[in-house]
This record gives sequence, structure tokens and C-alpha cells, in this order.
Amino acid sequence: MNNISTLVRPSIAALKGYSSARDEFDGLEGIFLDANENPFGNLNRYPDPYQRQLKKQVSQWKNVSEANLFIGNGSDEIIDITFRVFCEPQKDKALILTPTYGMYEVSAAINNVALVKVPLTDHFDIDLAATKKALENTDIKLLILCSPNNPTGNLLDRNAMKHLITGFNGIVLIDEAYIDFSTEDSFNQWLTSCPNIIVMQTLSKAYGLASARVGIGYASEEIIGYFNKVKPPYNVSGLNQAAALATLKANDVYESQKEMIISEREKLKVALNKNALVLKQYPSVTNFILAEVTDADALYNALTAQKIIVRNRSKQINNCLRFSVGTPEENEQLINALHTLSI
Ligand SMILES: *Cc1c(COP(=O)(O)O)cnc(C)c1O
Repeated sequence: MNNISTLVRPSIAALKGYSSARDEFDGLEGIFLDANENPFGNLNRYPDPYQRQLKKQVSQWKNVSEANLFIGNGSDEIIDITFRVFCEPQKDKALILTPTYGMYEVSAAINNVALVKVPLTDHFDIDLAATKKALENTDIKLLILCSPNNPTGNLLDRNAMKHLITGFNGIVLIDEAYIDFSTEDSFNQWLTSCPNIIVMQTLSKAYGLASARVGIGYASEEIIGYFNKVKPPYNVSGLNQAAALATLKANDVYESQKEMIISEREKLKVALNKNALVLKQYPSVTNFILAEVTDADALYNALTAQKIIVRNRSKQINNCLRFSVGTPEENEQLINALHTLSI
């Protein structure tokens, strides 16, 4: 394992981050005449740039020290910052295992970083030999592992992940956007033994807060320090921090919603299995099901005409649609529509 400081882009290592008014004085009481805010109103003050209250809650909830936490404006921001901290444009490369979440490719392109793609196996698991072979390319600075994977819905093999994480000399970004739906342990307990990992979760999926844009990053203190230098000073709004805090305090509600979503997923699975338009479905530990259908474009259009919007993934995986699990009523409407459609 290389030292983290040797993996950071030289311009970022040398960067002196912006020092905001709230960096220079972080007390809560006083007459604040330092940030050119309007003194009237209740959203008039800049929020805590380091989201300390929220981190305190997340720390207790996830059993990770506050110093190892980063809150992003959605986890999409964490993906972008990872590229910006570690990948020198037009020089370093990143490796992804396809098919996977589309934002990795977009973030790489925005940052002018070339992507190496290694296909997952037929069961959408890690092809260890091919991945290790690809990682022999020393330009690869960043490896992204999405587990559970989107849009396939499965966990990647944990031993293969461990093997890649411990054998790689660069940074590994582990995207756990759907981990809360599964019983799998997070890699966020691995920060000490594997200082080269960044683990990423989100409140957008299991915790019902997609609108608020709150992503959670877990990494070594050193990596968090670089992230803090690179992020916009007030990257998570005060409204969003408050929404996240309220959500974590009402954890029970989300635990029962999660159970409901999982039991609905199992019902949907049974119904899809019986449907002649569905040729195959892939096992899911998430809140969606990927299914191969007879004609993805035609079925997508027919469902859309009935105002049922699913995700057409047939460009990534031949004839596949991705069905998010909805409310019991919504799922029933989907199942009824699939029964009556003739395409
Ligand atoms: C939805 C999703 C994200 C984005 O989450 P936000 O926190 O809403 O930005 C990240 N990764 C994967 C795999 C996702 O499916």
C-alpha cells in the first residue's frame, strides 16, 4: 500500500483550502458581523461547514469516529471529490466493473480521467483474474466497487473485494448506497486496517431523503482532510442538515419502511416470476429488481403509456428493465399492468 500522501494530486496536496468566516470563528454565541449575512430572518446564517451535529449522530449510529466522516451533497458529490483529490486529469485512470452506476463514468469524464472497464461475470460478480490483470496498469489510481451493485441488485463477493482492496496500491471507493437494505456488514469498520478505502453511503435510498441530498463518506482522517480542503465551504445546506438529523432521530420509522419495502420486493419477485413477459430476474438485496423481458423498449413504452415509469437499462444489459419497489398499491398496479399488457 502506498502512502496516501503520495496518491493525492500534487495540486491538491499543495492547496490551501478556503478559510470561511465559520472556520475562523466557530462559536455559537455572539454578535456575528463577520460573514456579510443579513442579520434578519431564520435562514439568514451560513450553516456549519463541517456538519458537526449531524456527524455526531452518524458517528453513534454507524460506530465510526466523527473524524472519519465526510458529509456530501448527496453521495454523488463524494464520487466527484474522490476524482478531484486523487486523479490527475489526462494522466491517472480509474477502473470500474460494468454494468454499474452511471455517475462514475460521468464524474470521470467531467474530470477528464480515462476509465478502464472490466465486465462483471454472467452472475454480475467480480471477475477476479480479469480485474487483477487490469490493475497491473500502474496508471490506475482509483478502483470503484459498488456493492450492492446498481443496476444489478446483488452484493459483490466479499472475499474478492477484500482481495482487491488489500492488493491494490491506489484508492478504493466502495459505494454502499443500498447496504441498508441488506444484512451485509459495511466496509466502514475497515478504515484502520485498510487506509486506502473510502466507503460511501447515502440517506437517499433506505432513509427516504433523496430530495435533501445527504451522502455519508467514511475514510481515514488524512483523506477526510483532503476532502474538506476541496469541497465547497458550505456544501450541505442548513435545511438539509436539519432534515438529516430529524431522519436519524426517527430511525424506527425507516426501519419499518425498510421491512415493508423488502417484503414488497419479495411479492414483486413472485409476481414477475409468473409473468410471461419476464424471461429472467436477477437476485436482489436492494429496493429494486433487474429483470430481462421479452422486449424492453416495447414494455417500457407500454408501461409509460399507463403512467408507470420504470428504468430502461437495455442499453447496459440487453432487454433489461429495472423496477424500483413502490408502495403496496403502486406495486399492485405494476403487476396488474404487466398482466393485461400484450406486446
Ligand atoms: C442512488 C445512488 C447514488 C447516489 O446517491 P445520492 O446520495 O442521492 O447522490 C450513489 N451510488 C449508487 C450506486 C446509487 O444507486
